[in-house]
Amino acid sequence: MAMVPKVSPLVLYAFLFLSLKVAIGEIPSSSPFSFIKPLQGSKKGDEVKGLYNLKKYLKRFGYIDDLPYNSTSPEANYFSDQLESAVRTYQTNFNLSPTGVLDFDTVSLMMKPRCGVPDIINGTNWIRRRLVPHYSFIPGNPKWPDDKDVLSYAWAYGTPYEFVRTTKMAFQQWSGWTRLSFNDGTDYRSADLKFHLFAGEHGDGQAFDGPGGIIAHSFEPTEGICHFDSEEEWAEVGVYPYGVDIQSVVTHEIGHLLGLGHSGVPTAVMFPAIGYGETKRLLDNDDIQGIRALYP
Ligand SMILES: [Zn+2]
Ligand SMILES: [Zn+2]
Repeated sequence: MAMVPKVSPLVLYAFLFLSLKVAIGEIPSSSPFSFIKPLQGSKKGDEVKGLYNLKKYLKRFGYIDDLPYNSTSPEANYFSDQLESAVRTYQTNFNLSPTGVLDFDTVSLMMKPRCGVPDIINGTNWIRRRLVPHYSFIPGNPKWPDDKDVLSYAWAYGTPYEFVRTTKMAFQQWSGWTRLSFNDGTDYRSADLKFHLFAGEHGDGQAFDGPGGIIAHSFEPTEGICHFDSEEEWAEVGVYPYGVDIQSVVTHEIGHLLGLGHSGVPTAVMFPAIGYGETKRLLDNDDIQGIRALYP
């Protein structure tokens, strides 16, 4: 009598594991920031295809106030005084050598996946005026009111469990260093801090851009809204070697939800960029000083 061939549970498990590994933790071969790579070495006076996109990038993150022409203008791809000054401000913000030239270090940092919150908001964010980069506040210092010691948070219904679990750990970091405490026992609609995964255009005028590029963004207090780009290669780094570490990015975005801006300190959680396979789950001294200054 012939036996019905059975798939061993172990084989099935291995298959599931492998297919999951393909789905998460891979580095995308191109990103919305790939256009920056061929610009390496460009400097003032050069005319290089793609410089217009770099101007848009620098405007997007607050380094150029006004770009009064479009991509077909004769000056679109010209490395102007304005562009040199913007590159220099970017380099100063991140403690790179402020040459105004698109050198390797500058291009490498610009290409990393990053948060969508601008580094300089309304031209008034003061990290640009510091000699030594450190933490910043959102302009106007918006924060949660003094009588609000407990903030509730929730992910939208149906969010994968990896996000929910790592978010709990991320909040423990911030509650450990402030008078604030955080409560996950609420439903999404009534939560003070709402987390949601979205792809592309999602109704707030800040469309996500697919794998790489912008990975998440948050709104200042007391909006309490945080969005993650669902098309990123999200991973729990440690379980998987590559991908963008969920807990590190949640920790960063909580900083914005509480009122912190970006820091130029590379080890700070509030540094805007993160590499694939990199983790930054513990608050740096710079983050702690920032949050304590905001919530004494
Ligand atoms: Zn950010
Ligand atoms: Zn959004």
